[in-house]
Amino acid sequence: VISEFDLIRRCFQRPTRHTVLGIGDDGALIAPSAGQQLVVSTDLLVEGTHFFPDADPESLGWKTLAVNLSDLAAMGALPRWATLATALPAAAPDWLDAFARGFFACADHFGIDLIGGDTTRGPHGAMSFCVTIFGEVAPGAALRRNGARVDDSIWVSGMPGRAAQGLAHLRGEIKLAEPQRSDCLVALHRPQPRVELGLALRGLATSAIDVSDGLLADLGHILEQSHVSANVSIPGLPPPGLARDALLNGGDDYELVFTTPAERDAEVAALGVKLQLPLTRIGKISPPPSGSRAGSLRLCDDSGSPIASIRRGYDHFDPHGTTPSSTT
Ligand code: ADP
Ligand code: MG
Repeated sequence: VISEFDLIRRCFQRPTRHTVLGIGDDGALIAPSAGQQLVVSTDLLVEGTHFFPDADPESLGWKTLAVNLSDLAAMGALPRWATLATALPAAAPDWLDAFARGFFACADHFGIDLIGGDTTRGPHGAMSFCVTIFGEVAPGAALRRNGARVDDSIWVSGMPGRAAQGLAHLRGEIKLAEPQRSDCLVALHRPQPRVELGLALRGLATSAIDVSDGLLADLGHILEQSHVSANVSIPGLPPPGLARDALLNGGDDYELVFTTPAERDAEVAALGVKLQLPLTRIGKISPPPSGSRAGSLRLCDDSGSPIASIRRGYDHFDPHGTTPSSTT
């Protein structure tokens, strides 16, 4: 058997790039860049809730960090450091090696130093992974949920809905054929956090959020915190059915939804070309109808007819929720 300390050294201790003191002491030392604010975010992934017990460890390692990076992207922050706390039913070095391979592939790609964590035996047989991530942003430059203004354009990056379709495929609810199958499974297992987009949106977007619980649900958070409403019409919205539901309510793609002043639409379009990332304008911020609460969202089809009965997102404490979904 391998000791806890050997396990940490073998799997998680790597040379750092921009850290004063990393793994190995009672605490890490970091030196934030002068004048920058720290952005801090935490996500917990629990077996059975966020991933299947037989999940591929390397993909899971990638995703564990990627979902945290997505939160920094949505804040417009530059990712810098992370800690990783994990509860494991038993020391399984080979499994953890593969997990670490995926985790560090993501860390290296986005320039993150792993600077500490905790490793403990979990009593109930289920694994969990909790990352806290630290990024930097200039004072006042962070993208927040509360800045959307009436007449702003609403945008979404990428092609959300693929991860939810990948999950439905794995559950046997639908049968995807190639090449769509691979496409959706990659979206589910190896989400690409939109860090570059988030950084480019500083000074351009008035609000932003990452889509972890579903496009409409997460846009709803912007509307509530900004005290506005929205008219949404998604170009090429699929007909009623799973593809439409996945697009509107599927979580887990980790795309960004954001708002920009309408006069800057051309800049956003140019940014999409530059980043080689589809950026789709899906609507416009409107004033809350008098007497009604802020946050109301009117969804229309391409011809402008309202679409009724929108289910909104995933809620961990909704008794009708299904597991495992993978929303954080
Ligand atoms: P302590 O007993 O002081 O909490 P630990 O023995 O738990 O220290 O951890 C030893 C070192 O290893 C610390 O620097 C800690 O941050 C790091 N560490 C422990 N587990 C992990 C992990 N899963 N990932 C990264 N670093 C870890
Ligand atoms: Mg400890």
